[in-house]
Amino acid sequence: MRRGFKALAERNSAAARRDLHLIATAPLDPWAFAAHLKVVILDFASLALNEDAVTQLTVTDGESWSAMTLRDHDQYAIVLNPAHALTRRRSDLMHELAHVQLGHTPSRVEVSKTGFMLLGDFSDEQEQEADWHGAALLVPREASCRCARSKPPLEKSRIFMA
Ligand SMILES: [Zn+2]
Repeated sequence: MRRGFKALAERNSAAARRDLHLIATAPLDPWAFAAHLKVVILDFASLALNEDAVTQLTVTDGESWSAMTLRDHDQYAIVLNPAHALTRRRSDLMHELAHVQLGHTPSRVEVSKTGFMLLGDFSDEQEQEADWHGAALLVPREASCRCARSKPPLEKSRIFMA
């Protein structure tokens, strides 16, 4: 990971909480953060896919994808896999928002018939950054340190699940 990146992630995490009028250790709702970044979350059902495609994406191949990020000029939209548990969708959404906030450019872009770009194939380094940044957004370092010291450890799981 590039030098200074972890500190940048913590600064962005703190700034997101300030922008959303949250205290430094409060959980950050990925949907609220998406709205703050003006990223649209598209409901999977709104894609109006045919039944075969829905079965393929949610049952047959339901584990093969977590989220899709689409871009139309400066507008980003994210579709989450509805077959996954809410806890996973939360972290997947924050991961995708990290790619957006960090301005990551994928090595492969597919363009749909309607002109949307489907972003895919980020580099390994970009994936590591999005993982780290997404986790820092969900749980700032200050909150995780506080939890690690607190007893019982229930406190920590509450923050991750919130
Ligand atoms: Zn990614």
